Order: sequence, then structure tokens, then C-alpha cells
Amino acid sequence: MTDAAYWLNTLRDQFPTLIDELAPAGRSASTPRGMPGPATPSRTTVPLRLHVSDAIRDITDGVVELEEAVRDKLGLGRAGQAPVPVRIGRMAALLAQVAAHPLLAEHVRDEARRMARRCSRALGGSEPMLTAAGRCPWCDSVSLRVFPERGSTLCINPGCRCDRADCDCGTNPAQRHEWPLAQNPEVSR
Ligand SMILES: [Zn+2]
Ligand SMILES: [Zn+2]
Repeated sequence: MTDAAYWLNTLRDQFPTLIDELAPAGRSASTPRGMPGPATPSRTTVPLRLHVSDAIRDITDGVVELEEAVRDKLGLGRAGQAPVPVRIGRMAALLAQVAAHPLLAEHVRDEARRMARRCSRALGGSEPMLTAAGRCPWCDSVSLRVFPERGSTLCINPGCRCDRADCDCGTNPAQRHEWPLAQNPEVSR
């Protein structure tokens, strides 16, 4: 599976969970019951909900724009209205054609990855994470974490920067330095 396909699949799998998170029904099972009604907003749930609805809006807009960009570049007609997971599936089906346009392929991968991560963050660390042994070769912190689902190791130190030109961690504050799981950070510098 290509990176783009991986991130599109991840996003398609997670997006419905994000929608569920916004639904009022989601709070009854695990959180204590507060006073009912909108007059007593909870200090703990309101910011979370805003965060979730912001993420949903951002991802929805991003997916629509990305699909339009893909179809435009491939000379296809405008895409019909469809729910976000359907649009993502339609894009995934076009990846073989997208691969013929390197800049577009890169854009699709970057956007899919950005949105999948935004989705994970809004879901509040639903992705399992393990502490890795050793120190980050770039910042020397004990900040390496393994994300088995993502298939990679990340340095979670927000201030960590590498000197590689092809890595986004120096230019994008939301980007952490990342190694494929098969690669040992200790020897990859
Ligand atoms: Zn680091
Ligand atoms: Zn980096």
C-alpha cells in the first residue's frame, strides 16, 4: 500500500468516529451525568466539542478541495455531492492515475496525512502509543514514541528539529520528526 492509500484509509476509518464524538449520545456511557440542558455547559466537554467540530469542518473542506484538485488535474468532471468517507473512497480509487502526476501525488499524500493526523488528535490520542528506548538522535530527549498503527516512530518533543531538507519537522510546527517502524532512529541520522 502506498503512503497516500494508507493515510486515506486511516482517515476514512476514523472520520465516522469523529462524527460520533460530536453526538450527544457519546457522553452518557463513560462520563458522569451533569445537569441536563444547554444552560449549564460543562467546562470539560465544551472545548472538546468545539475542537471536534472544528476538525470535522476542516477535514470536510479539505477532502472536498482535495477531490476537486485531483479530478481537475486528471481532467475528470466535477465530483458529485457525497459524504466525506465516500469522497475519500473515490479518491483512493484514483490513486493509480494520480501517481502519474508526481506533484499531485505528493499533495494528495501530504493532505491525507495532515487530515488523518488532525482526526487522530481531535479524537484525543485514540491511537496506541508506546515509549521507545533510547534518546532522539536530533534533540537527545527521551521523547521517542512508537505508533504501531501508523507504522512509525515519532519524536514527540515539540521543539525537536532535524537538519534534513526533505523533512517537514523544521517548517511545520504540527509536524514531528518521524521514522518508519522498520528503521531504528538510533542509526538513521
Ligand atoms: Zn527529537
Ligand atoms: Zn525531521
